[in-house]
Amino acid sequence: MRRFVYTGLPSRVVFGTGTVAQLPAEVDRLTTKRVLMISTPGRGAMVNRIAHSLPGRVAGFFDKAAMHQPIEIVEEARELAASINADCCVAVGGGSTIGFGKAIALTSGLPVIAVPTTYSGSEMTTIWGLSEGGLKKTGRDPKVLPKTVIYDAELTLDLPPAVSAASGMNAIAHCVEALYAHDGNPIVSLMAEEGIRALASALPRIILNLKDLDARTDALYGSWLAGATISTTSVALHHKLCHVLGGMGLPHAETHSIVLPHAMQYNRDAAPEAMRRIASAIAAVDAPRGIYELEKSLGLPMRLADIGMQQADLERAARIAAEAPYPNPRKVEYGPVLELLRNAYEGRRP
Ligand code: NAD
Repeated sequence: MRRFVYTGLPSRVVFGTGTVAQLPAEVDRLTTKRVLMISTPGRGAMVNRIAHSLPGRVAGFFDKAAMHQPIEIVEEARELAASINADCCVAVGGGSTIGFGKAIALTSGLPVIAVPTTYSGSEMTTIWGLSEGGLKKTGRDPKVLPKTVIYDAELTLDLPPAVSAASGMNAIAHCVEALYAHDGNPIVSLMAEEGIRALASALPRIILNLKDLDARTDALYGSWLAGATISTTSVALHHKLCHVLGGMGLPHAETHSIVLPHAMQYNRDAAPEAMRRIASAIAAVDAPRGIYELEKSLGLPMRLADIGMQQADLERAARIAAEAPYPNPRKVEYGPVLELLRNAYEGRRP
């Protein structure tokens, strides 16, 4: 076994059907009394229902969370938190909502309780993001790590098939890159392989029956593991490309899903052990092709061309990715990266 460094992050996880009923006890545990409830505009009704379990302790609602945390909306949320003297944020939703909790925590230090309702995995990481003027800035800060995470699959039964599948593949992408991260370790690899196994088994069952509570629970388990894997290891070429394409306005989870099999194909021969473990977790002979087939079976878009990518931008994206690459098993070079992007643009089977 090679030398490694493992960092454990302090977070408390309350997992299982019906556990959102434990939110009042978790708020008490943090000794907070003035909660700011955060959601996206569409999830207000669910959040109101949850807020009823906290009589006298909800100081305000912010229901304007949006993808990639645009700075103007974040400032509005921060001002609201300050003006109502909030002492805790409860973020109920996907990566966008949790991202708002983190953005508030970044400048105020307020504790965040996350109640994830997608599979983004953001609730387990110290990674924050903000976007300004079309550019997304990210960083890592222990302050933004949610103190408590409540995973209750009952809250996810209305998550539409397209969002379920795409955010599930976003979580699988975290696990894939953790398996070949330059700073990976055996513990994270265990979690990554198990995360892929749980998600690859759950997502097809969810697409068949959106109300399958067992499948939803398995997917939340997988996304927890996925978030935990990227919380302490570095991401590589795949995430770099998705950050570049996200900056060009492409939707987050769908971009991850489309790029993943092609980024894996790029790294295929340079990361044989990771590929072996991924193939085993999805019961496929070849890892990149197996991931591609899984996505196709989930009905996901397979071509960057179908989610708003302009062909004329492929070269620019390849140049940005190659100029400031993240550490990656195979050397990141302009020509091969452009070919990867062209394959993703056309949706070619690896
Ligand atoms: P999202 O949070 O944007 O949610 C997608 C849509 O699904 C929204 O319209 C939301 O209202 C809706 N939704 C959420 N839960 C629902 C439910 N239970 N039922 C019905 N509808 C529901 O999407 P996402 O993929 O979870 O998150 C993407 C964002 O998360 C991006 O901004 C990305 O950068 C960020 N992210 C951050 C990290 C991190 O570690 N910081 C990790 C992954 C993703």
